[in-house]
Amino acid sequence: MTHASLAEAGALAFPVPCVGCGEPPRMLCERCRPEVCPAPSLRELDAGLRVWSGLPFSGVPARAIRALKADLRTPLARALAPALACALDEAWVATGGAHARPPLLLPIPTSRASWRRRGVRVVELLLRRAGARPCRALRHARRVADQRGLDRADRGNNVAHSMRCAEMRGATVLLVDDVVTTGATLVEASRAVTAAGGLVVGAVTLASTPLVFGGSRSDA
Ligand SMILES: [Zn+2]
Repeated sequence: MTHASLAEAGALAFPVPCVGCGEPPRMLCERCRPEVCPAPSLRELDAGLRVWSGLPFSGVPARAIRALKADLRTPLARALAPALACALDEAWVATGGAHARPPLLLPIPTSRASWRRRGVRVVELLLRRAGARPCRALRHARRVADQRGLDRADRGNNVAHSMRCAEMRGATVLLVDDVVTTGATLVEASRAVTAAGGLVVGAVTLASTPLVFGGSRSDA
């Protein structure tokens, strides 16, 4: 029996609920799968940093991303990767023309706590599934509190000067993250890359949260 047919037999023996609608037998059913088809959007952060995203962080895409990140349903990375690839393409078309070489793709680093808890670097996994090569140049310089539950100003203060970047002189860079909410993390990463001599031409995320701030909290 091949590995694939063993996996198929396993799926039949142990049907799993769909992360989108909760119905068995697949992790992402035929009905919900179209919901994660690429739906690219562009946002400009206050700092002037442009962010291309492949999906809205709502409904089925948000549930699938939470299941990937929180429950480590890593097979979902394959279903979500086309949306990231699409956002990368959009960013590449919009920014790549001005540069002789393709920009380096710098993932936002996984926190040490999350690495210990999950053992997976979700953004790197998504990039690989999207057929791209991550460049692990950004690191945390200090611990930061969980961004959830913080308002816009607190998020900025929480992450300010929290990252460090390897030498980037002469390199053009696209930052990559799973979800953009206020963009505070991306702005901090951009600062770190710029301080290391790199030129940040934009950022790409799998999904983008509709901005609903002023007391309400976000999941990303
Ligand atoms: Zn479903």
